[in-house]
Amino acid sequence: MNSVALTAGANQLGIALSDDQAARLLRLLDELDDWNQRMNLTAIRERSAQITKHLLDSLSIQPYLRGSRVCDVGTGAGFPGIPLAIVNPELQFTLVDSTAKKLKFIDHVAQLLDLSNIVTVHTRAEDFRPEERFDVVVSRAVGPVVQFVKWAGHLAVGGGRLLAMKGKSPDEEVRQLPNGWKVAAIHRLEVPGLDEERHLVEICRSHDKV
Ligand code: SAH
Repeated sequence: MNSVALTAGANQLGIALSDDQAARLLRLLDELDDWNQRMNLTAIRERSAQITKHLLDSLSIQPYLRGSRVCDVGTGAGFPGIPLAIVNPELQFTLVDSTAKKLKFIDHVAQLLDLSNIVTVHTRAEDFRPEERFDVVVSRAVGPVVQFVKWAGHLAVGGGRLLAMKGKSPDEEVRQLPNGWKVAAIHRLEVPGLDEERHLVEICRSHDKV
């Protein structure tokens, strides 16, 4: 049942999940439930809501990925980073959070599910100085867009994109972006089974072509 809902939802997003990918995504939720008994990783406990709000919500930004290196800033228990890493084995994902215990969960899951395309980094985004920067820097539920750009703008390569996952369209929040940055587009996201608004704010450097 869960597997059918997940596969159908992913299909609506234009993602053809293999049986193996669907199984890994559901196993991720099993592990989340298990660890959640010991530490607070998610408030969403019902399986169908987890499928919608954790898995499909994460996968809904799939069309906006580009390049080969993706950074998920403030990844928490690994969203959207882990689901995206499962369906994009050819891309490299760096998952960053300032809370070490959440990264322990991600390391555990990455090992269990054999996700060799995930690396975790325990740092504050603003202090992170990677050797190589990223084509896409994404964040979900990490605060105002302006703050995200200030904290994480330096992580994007020239021509790279910052992607802020938001609920309602954050028109007010994006009016005052830091100098050097502009909104390339605001995309309305359709998350299958979710009766709430979702938007993706795509941000690039002012001099980049949209
Ligand atoms: N993206 C996840 C978690 C959101 S909660 C999800 O949508 O489910 C916000 C997370 O951001 C927390 O795990 C917190 O530890 C982390 N965080 C807050 N400020 C941060 C910073 N400056 N650098 C890195 N991580 C940060």
